[in-house]
Amino acid sequence: KVRVRFAPSPTGGLHLGGVRTVLFNYLFAKQHNGTFVLRIEDTDQTRYVEGAEQYILDCLNWCGLHADESPEVGGPFAPYRQSERKALYREYAERLVAQGHAYYAFDTPAELEQKRKEIPNFQYGQAHRNEMRNSISLSEHEVDTLLDAHAPHVIRIKMPEDEHISFNDMIRGDVSFDTNLVDDKVLLKADGMPTYHLAVVVDDFLMKITHAFRGEEWLPSAPVHLLLWKYLGWWDQMPKWAHLPLILKPDGHGKLSKRDGARLGFPVYAMNWFDAKTQELTPGFRELGFLPEAFINLLATLGWNDGTEQEIFTLDELIEKFSIERVNKAGAKFDFEKAKWFNAEWIKRSSAESLAPKVKTILEDKGITVTDDNYLSKVIDTIKDRVVLLPDFYQQSSYFFAVPAEYDLNAVKPKWTDAKTVFFNTLSDTFKAAPVWQPAELEATFKALAEEKGLKIGDVMLPFRIMLVGGKFGPHVFDIATLLGQEETVNRIALALV
Ligand code: GLU
Repeated sequence: KVRVRFAPSPTGGLHLGGVRTVLFNYLFAKQHNGTFVLRIEDTDQTRYVEGAEQYILDCLNWCGLHADESPEVGGPFAPYRQSERKALYREYAERLVAQGHAYYAFDTPAELEQKRKEIPNFQYGQAHRNEMRNSISLSEHEVDTLLDAHAPHVIRIKMPEDEHISFNDMIRGDVSFDTNLVDDKVLLKADGMPTYHLAVVVDDFLMKITHAFRGEEWLPSAPVHLLLWKYLGWWDQMPKWAHLPLILKPDGHGKLSKRDGARLGFPVYAMNWFDAKTQELTPGFRELGFLPEAFINLLATLGWNDGTEQEIFTLDELIEKFSIERVNKAGAKFDFEKAKWFNAEWIKRSSAESLAPKVKTILEDKGITVTDDNYLSKVIDTIKDRVVLLPDFYQQSSYFFAVPAEYDLNAVKPKWTDAKTVFFNTLSDTFKAAPVWQPAELEATFKALAEEKGLKIGDVMLPFRIMLVGGKFGPHVFDIATLLGQEETVNRIALALV
């Protein structure tokens, strides 16, 4: 039975890469009728950020990627917050010490600091282990005395010398590490909290995780995790790993970082993230006007394709088609223009009914009250092809609800003639008496009248649009007039003529 987990540390908002990890976990789980677990890895209290966990939950909700087991919904392996599991990790660290795969280290922060100053690129590992105060360098008696006196200490893994540790990654194939290059990571901290390395292994084991998807940035930590799986005697039950490709800056030069958003003028977070401590707001895709369907779709294509030209996928299609074999090893460049294209496509494909509540809020925020839902739906259908981001609905539709606040007079004034005034006066009368109010009929009437008055159709079409819309934009002008209705259209012509 497939069990996967997303295991974020609540240290801030979720950026693109984080949500893509959620998505790939989710797709893989659903595809195999498996279970998607959300586990909060909050053992590093110094990095804990208030509100971050709630943000992660909100984000999963917004994306519709619901966890089957989580701190929120519970589950058979609860608790799902590592800080609440604190008591269970020590046993495993002690077991490793007893086996000689880990050791107590009594060095104070000041001593470590001193060492780092003395030795450039200091690594607590085989090169310097013996110079430090730990249960390898000290005598048994000294260690016992320190332990009896409750001297603060951590437990570190003892990295073996001259070994190679390998595993098969579902995306990268065989990966091998030289243990000499890895330092003796802390497993259990002085306060009794496990570090990420110990907790992630213990919990993946206890929660019976079968497949672990995470960002490539965790690859360097893999040797530590592999050794823990081995030393704890769980090697056979180790999950299959998949280290997901990095998401790169648009120019392909390096990893897209949280800071790139502000620099390059686009969001990298899923939703707005407000850091109470720094009072900094990092903008998100949701607030910018992305549909969750589009957001998910674009994330899926960052490093994955189904081998065809298809680019638009619903979540159900992704569940059906996703395959880990088709995830690239190479990093995926993030292209904001392409991201917007996805959103425009999704808005086009969405029904007016599903868009209506969102559009209503946008309009109401701008002071437009929508009273007729049926009318709103028609408006949405008429303009949704022109919308890229949800807030565009305001600019594209406000004239359907109120007389244009401004007219683009430059577009009409210089070429205005008395003949045009006559034309529009007559048009107004003709429209007032029109028996049928439909685009084709209106267009025919309009053209016939222009011809009769000896005017080129193009010369009166633009002014007509400006009278109704205020500017040189919008859908087919007779569709607009039809939707505005007879009375309102006639009114707007009259209003513009004064
Ligand atoms: N807690 C780690 C993080 O913050 C999870 C890494 C993993 O999935 O092993 O991303």
